[in-house]
Amino acid sequence: MANDSEHRGAATPEARTDALRRVLERKGLIEEGALDTLQARLEEQFDWRNGARVVARAWVDADYRERLLADGTKACADLGFTGPQGEYIVVLEDEPTLHNVIVCTQCSCTAWPVLGLPPDWYKSPAYRARVAREPRPVLKEMGLELPPEVQIRVWDTTAETRFMVLPLRPNGTEGWSEEELAAIVTRDAMIGVALVETPESG
Ligand code: FE
Repeated sequence: MANDSEHRGAATPEARTDALRRVLERKGLIEEGALDTLQARLEEQFDWRNGARVVARAWVDADYRERLLADGTKACADLGFTGPQGEYIVVLEDEPTLHNVIVCTQCSCTAWPVLGLPPDWYKSPAYRARVAREPRPVLKEMGLELPPEVQIRVWDTTAETRFMVLPLRPNGTEGWSEEELAAIVTRDAMIGVALVETPESG
């Protein structure tokens, strides 16, 4: 919901989560430590570095890139990245004059198998409320200033879609291996709030 913590001025989400967890543990509804174990397992299984490998493969393999754009779910599964929140992956390809950004204005959905669990800022009411309305200033505040000739397209997650951005391959990476390329792809770039940069360009 949009009117959560920051409008209430009460406890932080962390404090509220801790309180809820303590009650559940005290009542014996969950085992002590069960949530930490679950979270650790989720973070291990659902790692945005998987998405970085998908991007790198698409950059070096034109046939894979085409399959990825045609059916993101299947192409990600071909690399072994499947699971909950990965059933409807739609990949959005950046172009020199078109930049894609993703958001879930309703809540905080991401394609877990390739983007991992969403970062806190992605879940924040501020990002969700503002990026669809005024993407250019929001991106600028996040450190990404795009030239005026680059069109920005914002994609709002629905029940049937989990988006992922295929960012532009940076100049100066000709001849790089797939592994080298995967190492420079970031989660922010696959959400669309950053570009992929080489150590030289960054
Ligand atoms: Fe959501």
